[in-house]
Amino acid sequence: MTSILKVDKLQTAFKTEKGEVISVDEVSFQLNPGETIGIVGESGCGKSVTSLSIMRLLGKAGFIKRGSVSLNGKDLTQLTEAEMRTIRGNEISMIFQEPMTSLNPVFTIGNQMIESIILHMKMPKKKAKLYAIEMLNNVGIPRAEAIVDEYPHALSGGMRQRVMIAMALSCQPKLLIADEPTTALDVTIQAQILELMKQLKEKSNTAIMMITHDLGVIAEMADKVMVMYAGQVVEEADVYTLFDEPKHPYTKGLIESIPHLEYENHKRLYSIPGSVPTLQNMPEGCRFHTRCPQATKKCLSDKPNLISVDKELQHKVRCWLYVNDHGTSDKHIRKEV
Ligand code: SF4
Ligand code: MG
Repeated sequence: MTSILKVDKLQTAFKTEKGEVISVDEVSFQLNPGETIGIVGESGCGKSVTSLSIMRLLGKAGFIKRGSVSLNGKDLTQLTEAEMRTIRGNEISMIFQEPMTSLNPVFTIGNQMIESIILHMKMPKKKAKLYAIEMLNNVGIPRAEAIVDEYPHALSGGMRQRVMIAMALSCQPKLLIADEPTTALDVTIQAQILELMKQLKEKSNTAIMMITHDLGVIAEMADKVMVMYAGQVVEEADVYTLFDEPKHPYTKGLIESIPHLEYENHKRLYSIPGSVPTLQNMPEGCRFHTRCPQATKKCLSDKPNLISVDKELQHKVRCWLYVNDHGTSDKHIRKEV
């Protein structure tokens, strides 16, 4: 299958008063139609900047320093801003926790939705309105037939967020980028929206990039997962392998911090001590060494590469524990931890 999205050695930097900082460092991945990749990590790990780089929405200070982002073979890093605008909202839809492209205050919800439905779905106006109401219903908006004629200011923040989600899903994009899409919503609505995304992927073969700090959402939605820490990918695998056989100490820590109902009364939740280093003060050696329970002397000075620990499963990890004396990793002789 040919991939719809191919990100190759993406490096994104920001200009700051203290000089340039690299906030996404050599991130690579591919996504097939109908496939969902989950990108997980604490805030500040570079997961949102990865999606903003793909969309070319980095603001004035940010820029792609190296690498490429191809959508259906077209390198987005080489397009003009005008060309990029036609890609956004057309071939790629996005949902943000705090919507970047907010609703237009001078048009009703219906008018904003219908306009893009007519354009992208090639529906006549009347049908487009019914479809808009159906989509608003689907994201759990009560009295959708009335809401469709309201202006955005009449709605609460949570409702506006759901309208944004309905708009993003209604045009059946080829690629949907969802950055913490349901974090601000309550659990019932969250479940409803995740279900809608799954339907979209089945019906329209949409590829989804799901960015979240919530491993529960990843387990529910993703086919494969990339774990990011301090701007780098530290582990990647298919979703089953990642949860069954996590390798990187950081991934293990994240998985151990998932709340388990049966434990709640008995055991204090584990949380990874310390916090993500700032981009200006990146530690030498392995970037995780300041928080890693298994760090050795080597980790303090030498940078580990992302290496394959299982070619068949396409399982990769960035950690010295999995590198043997030959500088490679092999499934059969790797050091067990
Ligand atoms: Fe921990 Fe060392 Fe592995 Fe980094 S390289 S995650 S410090 S064991
Ligand atoms: Mg973020």
